[in-house]
Amino acid sequence: MGMTADLDLYPSRQEILSRMAAASRASDRDPAATVLVAVSKRQPENRIDAMLAAGQTVFGENRVQEAMQRWEVRRKAHANLQLHLVGPLQTNKAREAVAFFDVIESVDRPKLARSLADACEKEGRNPKVFIQVNTGEEPQKSGVAPKGADAFIASVRDEYRLDLKGLMCIPPAYEPPGPHFALLAKIAAANGLGQLSMGMSADFETAIRFGATYVRVGSALFGEREG
Ligand SMILES: *Cc1c(COP(=O)(O)O)cnc(C)c1O
Repeated sequence: MGMTADLDLYPSRQEILSRMAAASRASDRDPAATVLVAVSKRQPENRIDAMLAAGQTVFGENRVQEAMQRWEVRRKAHANLQLHLVGPLQTNKAREAVAFFDVIESVDRPKLARSLADACEKEGRNPKVFIQVNTGEEPQKSGVAPKGADAFIASVRDEYRLDLKGLMCIPPAYEPPGPHFALLAKIAAANGLGQLSMGMSADFETAIRFGATYVRVGSALFGEREG
């Protein structure tokens, strides 16, 4: 058997895309209104290449260093790639993140917003950003608390002047996700934000029903992660 060329992720990607389309139609939404972000963190290289070969162009990573290692070269061969940072970001990595990513989904505190604003100025780049909301108010999870969201949204827009597009959440693992998606949608609407990044392998169809414009799917698309 050949090393990597035999792996075909086209059917798996098609299956996720048709489930997304079905969920959109079932809730009277345009299937084109929700984008699949293929979360490639801790996936082996051959699966990433197979996903590119299947036609996927939008990818999510949760670590700056790992993302740069694996995407810096591939990006040169795929000019239309869109790379999303979906994991927590340390302020000392803000500059690298701004230089590298097209979308930063995990803005969650003023100190980070300030670092990103500085980095944007230094890099002459302005990636799109999302604010992560900790809808379940879980102490171990990043994200701004729902009650602090309006004020933080205003400061990210008006004070730090980042290119804020929407909100992101990761609901608690052992609760029905619907109410969390609904809360995120409500906060976004109240603040005039049009984009919602919500829904993962286990709940992306529910997220689409609640208005997701980006779903972040990893294992259901690629298979189980390594390590
Ligand atoms: C890992 C990860 C995902 C994908 O998770 P799956 O359950 O494998 O689909 C989505 N979003 C974030 C923020 C992640 O860290």
